[in-house]
Amino acid sequence: MSTDSQSPAAVAPGIGVAEAIRLLVGQYAPFPGEPRLEPAQELVFTILSQHTSDVNSARAFQGLLERFGTLEEVAQGDLADIERAITPGGLARIKAPRIKAVLNRVLELNGSLDLSFLREMPLGEAKAWLRQLPGIGPKSAGIILSFALGMPAMAIDTHIYRVVKRLGLIGPKVTAEKAHELLEELVEPGQVLQFHHSFITHGRRVCKAQRPRCGDCVVAFGCPSRGRFLPITSGPPDPRAEEVYTGVAPHSPYASTVEDGEP
Ligand code: SF4
Repeated sequence: MSTDSQSPAAVAPGIGVAEAIRLLVGQYAPFPGEPRLEPAQELVFTILSQHTSDVNSARAFQGLLERFGTLEEVAQGDLADIERAITPGGLARIKAPRIKAVLNRVLELNGSLDLSFLREMPLGEAKAWLRQLPGIGPKSAGIILSFALGMPAMAIDTHIYRVVKRLGLIGPKVTAEKAHELLEELVEPGQVLQFHHSFITHGRRVCKAQRPRCGDCVVAFGCPSRGRFLPITSGPPDPRAEEVYTGVAPHSPYASTVEDGEP
């Protein structure tokens, strides 16, 4: 492994993470209150939210609870019934067996779907416990631990990953998985949720994948990537700005970023 590509110290000088959080929180706060769901519900929700919008995954989750009442019933449920209940969320044929499998694995390991015991574990152990479940990667584990249990775990989605790389907070070759570890070291535990909400909002509204609005960006003064995107509005394409010129028309559905899709 190249330490240069994996280390946050290898990045270009720019704004510090604490200052970026302060400015982005000032721009986008207030954020939704936490927690949203019980940990096992959040676990199911992370699967339902893969490769779909928040609205559709919420509909699928509601449909699941209306049909089965409890997640214990879902774990015992017929696969075709689960699939029908979550159809509004899309990819129901793939997600139904994932949900059933993960719930039954939790029951095997823990004897119940109550995951509150994770709160008593050190963060690394709690993450490792969740990561042993089928289909649960670092982002899903981070969502469950931070949103449902109030622990200082990172959940790096496509928007946050893009913004932290452009700001130079992590090196350009750091993987999304490694980014979770590096950013947990960089961000104060008490700031993790504010970091999450402010960076994801910035990625969705301003630091977009296709056409970042650098002229409207409150952290542009400290962003080493700013110059890469200026040619979009002021001249011919800059070949270094590969993220911008993908050959996909901006109005194409394929141009939109996938929300929280953890493979
Ligand atoms: S200056 Fe541009 S590239 Fe940098 S964070 Fe702001 S919007 Fe993103």
